[in-house]
Amino acid sequence: MAVGRLRTAIGALVVALAAGAAVALPAAEAEAAGAKGAKGAKVVYLTFDDGPSPAYTPKVLATLSRYGVRATFFEIGQNVAAHPSVTAQVAKQGHSVQNHSWSHPDLRRLSAAALNAQLADTDKAIRAQTGRTPNCLRPPYGAVNSTVRSKAATLGKQVVLWSVDPADWSRPGTAAISSRVLNNVRPGSVILLHDGGGDRSQTVAALPTIISTLKSRGYGFATLCG
Ligand SMILES: [Zn+2]
Repeated sequence: MAVGRLRTAIGALVVALAAGAAVALPAAEAEAAGAKGAKGAKVVYLTFDDGPSPAYTPKVLATLSRYGVRATFFEIGQNVAAHPSVTAQVAKQGHSVQNHSWSHPDLRRLSAAALNAQLADTDKAIRAQTGRTPNCLRPPYGAVNSTVRSKAATLGKQVVLWSVDPADWSRPGTAAISSRVLNNVRPGSVILLHDGGGDRSQTVAALPTIISTLKSRGYGFATLCG
């Protein structure tokens, strides 16, 4: 319940920001974080948070593979520790695996030691499965302040948020998820979806429509954060 309320509040904040001058921030951060799309190319960035999940991540991977699309997965360290082979499979299929904290807290509320552990322990768990240290952090709920940004930078990480949020985690229905993405996407969009943290069957079901429609509009797909 508390998580849901906070997510709703953050979602409202992101919507509010999107109406103002801060709208360019996520895309700018994505660019700074090493987006692979050629400059000026019509690309979007699919991102999946809160996995790995043994139930849903393999289904997402199968769809991405079917369409020949690569994406970025912001994984939770304790889920990596519980399902390491799923993370290894994500990396093996050429996707980018990045840091989404160890246990999904609001990082702004932690002590320095706890913040460090949330990021460093997750790096270690991901590195053990992918052979790579994450270059990026997506803070849970998009909750970030100067302390979190500074710590991320110290650990060599860019902070990556998003610019299109269909709130798939709230399970609004498969059609709502796909239409919210398709009605708001533009070149350079960073699309927030979830492959973990609950029942993601609606997200899995929406994905083929999202990808096939974007392809028909001429979009390519790229990964973030190397
Ligand atoms: Zn999350």
